[in-house]
Amino acid sequence: QTFCQELPKLELHAHLNGSLSRSTMTFIKRFLALTGMADESDVFLDEFQVGPSDTKNLSDCFQVFDIAHKLTITKETLTMATALTLREFERDGCCYIELRSTPRQTAHLTISEYIETVVQSMKSARERGLICCFIISINRNSSKEDADVIVDHAIEYHTKYPDIVVGVELSGNPAVGMFQDFVPALDKARKAGLKITLHCGEICNTQEVIEMINFKPERIGHGIYIHPKFGGNDTTWDLLRNSRIPVEICLTSNVNTKSTPDFNSHHFKEFYNANIPVVLCTDDKGVFSTSLSQEYHICGETYGIEQSKLARLSLKACNYIFAEDVRKILTEKILNFINKNEL
Ligand code: 5GP
Repeated sequence: QTFCQELPKLELHAHLNGSLSRSTMTFIKRFLALTGMADESDVFLDEFQVGPSDTKNLSDCFQVFDIAHKLTITKETLTMATALTLREFERDGCCYIELRSTPRQTAHLTISEYIETVVQSMKSARERGLICCFIISINRNSSKEDADVIVDHAIEYHTKYPDIVVGVELSGNPAVGMFQDFVPALDKARKAGLKITLHCGEICNTQEVIEMINFKPERIGHGIYIHPKFGGNDTTWDLLRNSRIPVEICLTSNVNTKSTPDFNSHHFKEFYNANIPVVLCTDDKGVFSTSLSQEYHICGETYGIEQSKLARLSLKACNYIFAEDVRKILTEKILNFINKNEL
């Protein structure tokens, strides 16, 4: 575990509101109560966490985010949420973080203010040396019109802060909405220079997996129902293998949401052995009580991947980041670690 903490790591799939730790949420809850907003902060933190023996499945999990959403409602609390979450990733040995979030209009924030607030927190973190970027999420539960509004904002802020607002992603309950409906908005984002990542194959829907891979996003998230052994078929598997699209793998998230029965039967092994580009990520470290070093540790222990290979997993992740201008610095940092530790 110490090795996994010390290893410089890249977090490429972390939802801001799902990443809030218990201590961050308690801190924000207290702040809201002290500022006379006790009603709005009246949430049950115990219900936020989803463990492996929980009865909640992936679909049920989408309700738990409402708990965090009741806290990140003002400029101050959203700033606290972003800053504290970035600090936690940093303390866990992350040297590069792409945090994603769906900009929400709240009683106290417009969509623009939501984005600006996250960006300003990231700018502060960057000033102390942490490289962090913002991927703007489209929730697939939203309408095409809402997705268009989000993408227009993403383009505006990418133009204003090209180093920070680097991508757009599609997430939300995969049982709701159709990928095709979001293609025009995603296309528009891509034409404006934003990179794209898609939650793909979280449930069995081979047609959608095919459409998503054919869209050629820069990365996909999860990729569970793609290999024939995991509910995909030869077409989806061959498409993925030939596409060379990197896959963001979230081990604990997939086990805790029952998308995968246990770590041993997770599709990571198939992907790793087939040389599919993969990157270990946390998804929602607050909800699933995990950390990136814990994900590396689980990977090493479960699949028998030795330290030198875990370090190379982190090294290869440098090739899949959206902020291409920092690739060289990160690569050198991880190579230094590899050389220093004779891995
Ligand atoms: P936020 O975008 O509010 O910062 O983070 C929480 C949101 O991320 C959730 O409401 C949901 O839309 C999305 N999300 C978090 N975890 C997952 C996941 O495992 N799968 C999918 N499809 N979406 C997720």
